[in-house]
Amino acid sequence: MKTLLIGEYREGKLLESTYELLSFAAQLNADTAMLLVGSESQLPAYAGTLYLADIATCGEYNPDLHKKLILDAVQKENPDCIVFLHSSYGWDLAPRVAAALKAAQISEVIANLDGGFEVGCCNAKMRRTVKSTTARTVITIQAGAFPVLQPGGSPAVQKLTADSSGNLEFIGYEPAEKKDVDLAKAEVIVTAGRGIGKKDNVPVIQALARALGGELGASRPVVDAGWVEHSHQVGTTGQTVSPKLYIACGVSGAIQHLAGMKKSDFIIAINKDKDAPIGEVADVLVVADVMQFVPALTAKVAK
Ligand SMILES: Cc1cc2nc3c(=O)[nH]c(=O)nc-3n(C[C@H](O)[C@H](O)[C@H](O)COP(=O)(O)OP(=O)(O)OC[C@H]3O[C@@H](n4cnc5c(N)ncnc54)[C@H](O)[C@@H]3O)c2cc1C
Repeated sequence: MKTLLIGEYREGKLLESTYELLSFAAQLNADTAMLLVGSESQLPAYAGTLYLADIATCGEYNPDLHKKLILDAVQKENPDCIVFLHSSYGWDLAPRVAAALKAAQISEVIANLDGGFEVGCCNAKMRRTVKSTTARTVITIQAGAFPVLQPGGSPAVQKLTADSSGNLEFIGYEPAEKKDVDLAKAEVIVTAGRGIGKKDNVPVIQALARALGGELGASRPVVDAGWVEHSHQVGTTGQTVSPKLYIACGVSGAIQHLAGMKKSDFIIAINKDKDAPIGEVADVLVVADVMQFVPALTAKVAK
């Protein structure tokens, strides 16, 4: 199998998640070529063929132009799969490429399974495995689902150009609203998941965070239910954090949550289900009722 991997730059910098594409391909045992709209001063540590278009002339985002560049590389490489990150770049560009190639698109892939691709469904509560029936397949991979793989070496660069016609103009990025809490800087985060049961229990989790000199985090359902402000949300649609200590209270460990916290130095999960997926990334899994365990722990810490 051959893959064409579409890496990304953001505000002039190569995104580290570009290397997740390489581990996706490695798991498939696939040959790779990569395409980047980037600059020669910042190339990935990757010793394969790299189609490089100049970011200064092609822009950080220009869907018509970038699609042309990708189709040009597809002609040259004849890949079976064209693989994007499931980012705002990938989810806008991938369907344009799929439509042009009349190829199936499989979005938000979280694992490679038995010749198929595993994706979330039912609002990520369940998973299903799908197979493409077209000769070529366009894929987007979920952030954090595949580890970063830096093979090292220098790429064999082949420059690409395309004319800069297009109906859209990239204007720039708008900084996110200023947050009342900066979880990215916190050394300790204690996160409330849906398993805490109700809004009235949030102060119990907050008390442990305070006792440890840390911040309160939250999973998405806790935020969606209005129990905690969105500025505390950890995950793909919240903040990405890497504290020294992360305590997940009543959090199941959905891929979108893990993507935001699995780089924490030490992870403690408190869950009444010993098989909860959070156990796969936790250093310690405490199998207990969170509302019994957390107050007892807070009392010990406070002593
Ligand atoms: C596009 C998209 C983006 C998303 N972005 C995010 C994101 O940024 N962040 C995020 O968190 N989620 C995100 N999600 C949602 C994600 O898929 C999960 O639904 C969510 O993370 C689940 O939250 P949870 O673990 O708190 O709840 P649940 O999955 O309901 O898990 C609750 C856990 O609590 C345990 N539990 C229950 N009662 C107790 C008790 N008394 N004591 C101990 N344990 C108990 C259960 O065993 C279970 O493991 C996103 C989903 C989609 C589709």
